[in-house]
Amino acid sequence: LPDLKDKVALITGAGSGIGRATAVLLARQGMKVCLADLKDERLEETKQEIASAGGQAITVDIDVSDPGRVAQAFEQVAKTWGQLDMVFANAGINGVLAPIEDMEPEDWDRTLSVNLKGTFLCVKHAIPNMRENGGSIVITSSINGSRAFSNFGMSAYSSSKAGQVAFAKMAALELAQYRIRVNVICPGSIKTNIGENTQPTPELEKIKIPVKYPEGSQPLEHAPGQPEQVAHLVAFLASDASSHITGTELFIDGAESLL
Ligand code: NAD
Repeated sequence: LPDLKDKVALITGAGSGIGRATAVLLARQGMKVCLADLKDERLEETKQEIASAGGQAITVDIDVSDPGRVAQAFEQVAKTWGQLDMVFANAGINGVLAPIEDMEPEDWDRTLSVNLKGTFLCVKHAIPNMRENGGSIVITSSINGSRAFSNFGMSAYSSSKAGQVAFAKMAALELAQYRIRVNVICPGSIKTNIGENTQPTPELEKIKIPVKYPEGSQPLEHAPGQPEQVAHLVAFLASDASSHITGTELFIDGAESLL
């Protein structure tokens, strides 16, 4: 595992799932971590877990779609540690699942605001903090960003995830001059709490299409992946071990996307 000693990271969605597992791993490898999530007792639990393992963490409650709150979170990191080496733009929701004809524009907007605008805002505010010394930005997209998924009604989610991939590539090009690397990870099904932020509608019945394989099946493990498996990929991308990797889309899905 890479040594991340004395580096500083800001991680969104750190209260649960992939964000929490990554925060815990990065802190174990010596990183100081700013845990950002909606105000929630789970955020404190992540902090406790890190503290009891001897790591350093602060929490900041944030809605990633709110420009003012995102700006404040980055100010907080600068004030606390005076540096920023890594940003994990990971917070996301499945949101409302509905057939396109029944999707309410405000539900579409919410999913795009959290997943895509939230990513943009985090990268925007990372730049002034990283411009001088370079750094690594990792964005959590999904295999949904490049293919249709077996959960119907995810047109907004998939659009947001595809948008993140395009955005990451533009950002990688634009920020290379500052030695800020930007990569995007595309997990397949991972066992997390994302179901809590998933709102299926009864209208989904209208678009039941036969699927090629049961949901969650992955050739490598025949089960959803674990958040800790994703965390190891992020730790590599955060470290200097990946110093020549930028603008890349990395699938971590046990070959689910190949089915
Ligand atoms: P999760 O629900 O366990 O964790 C997501 C965290 O994001 C939660 O703690 C939640 O409170 C936080 N969050 C939601 N909206 C927010 C907002 N507006 N501002 C700040 N924080 C917010 O889910 P997860 O699976 O760990 O999701 C992490 C990322 O992984 C998401 O971007 C998701 O789209 C992506 N992803 C997940 C899977 C999967 O199968 N679980 C697959 C592919 C991609």
